[in-house]
Amino acid sequence: MDLYQELCGILGKENVFTKEPMSRHTTFRAGGPADFFVTPEEEGQVRTVLALLKEAGVPFYVMGNGSNLLVGDRGYRGVILQICKKMNRIRIQDAVIHAQAGALLSKIAAEAQAEGLTGFEFASGIPGTLGGAVMMNAGAYGGEMKHVLTRAQVLDPTGEIREVLAEEMELGYRSSVFSRKGGVILSASVQLEPGDPSEIQKRMEELKIQRTSKQPLEYPSAGSTFKRPEGYFAGKLIQDAGLRGFQVGGAQVSEKHCGFVINKEQASATDIRSLMEQVSEKVYAQFGVRLEPEVKLIGDFS
Ligand SMILES: Cc1cc2nc3c(=O)[nH]c(=O)nc-3n(C[C@H](O)[C@H](O)[C@H](O)COP(=O)(O)OP(=O)(O)OC[C@H]3O[C@@H](n4cnc5c(N)ncnc54)[C@H](O)[C@@H]3O)c2cc1C
Repeated sequence: MDLYQELCGILGKENVFTKEPMSRHTTFRAGGPADFFVTPEEEGQVRTVLALLKEAGVPFYVMGNGSNLLVGDRGYRGVILQICKKMNRIRIQDAVIHAQAGALLSKIAAEAQAEGLTGFEFASGIPGTLGGAVMMNAGAYGGEMKHVLTRAQVLDPTGEIREVLAEEMELGYRSSVFSRKGGVILSASVQLEPGDPSEIQKRMEELKIQRTSKQPLEYPSAGSTFKRPEGYFAGKLIQDAGLRGFQVGGAQVSEKHCGFVINKEQASATDIRSLMEQVSEKVYAQFGVRLEPEVKLIGDFS
């Protein structure tokens, strides 16, 4: 089988890239080439491509905006499907927002504000897609996807497209049934409440100020690198372990916010991973608390 030709046949040549550097598609700005990088435009294309890849035994990975993802320096052997800019339609009906999985949370928040709908302000500064946010049950400042999601259209691991209700998603801290059992989010709906557009705008601006003042947004990163361990804060443990500013190659524990690993100066993915491992070991040695990555690591590291 000529995989390139098959993918072009389903997606169009303009949506199939070979040896695509993943540093271009992840907010860490690190990571080597994916053998194939494809950008489906329709739900049906996602289903057809995945059926083809499963049938042919080709490894694949589905990503959104790459804001919680680290790909190894030697890249990814297989096909990465990006559901982002080309599948990002948003529709509002009454107080419900229906959007394709590739819609950015910031865009959804802006449209909600313009329509006078409140409840999505918490997500306005999270740099991911709706699909990534459902998968991760993304949250911030007291809000989380769990509070607003009602349903999603999902391509399940058997290749069927079905509606899944929020109650069935087992949404927990940065996890969902999909992160445990698989499934590709194609679109989702969130239920909001009528609100005052200027109040909504004000709240989003307040949150933006909080983020810019506390987080090292001037450097590439994937946000909070580690999950919050039960009863602790990852950033505080890292700080108390004396690791503020700790550096491996070009990767650094942010001096501004110890919960963030940043790409300070042309870090390789290996620098970042090695820093994460060392931080985790040092924190465990000092406090007996195991830090688990929130960031997903895929591909071949050198
Ligand atoms: C500066 C910064 C600040 C951040 N702040 C926050 C925050 O406040 N709160 C928070 O929760 N997160 C935060 N994050 C992390 C990140 O934005 C979220 O985890 C986001 O939900 C990831 O979405 P994504 O589209 O970028 O997913 P990706 O990083 O592309 O993928 C993340 C995971 O989701 C899966 N995935 C993505 N799309 C789909 C889909 N359509 N179907 C199935 N699986 C899919 C991937 O396989 C992967 O496992 C921050 C990141 C950065 C860089």
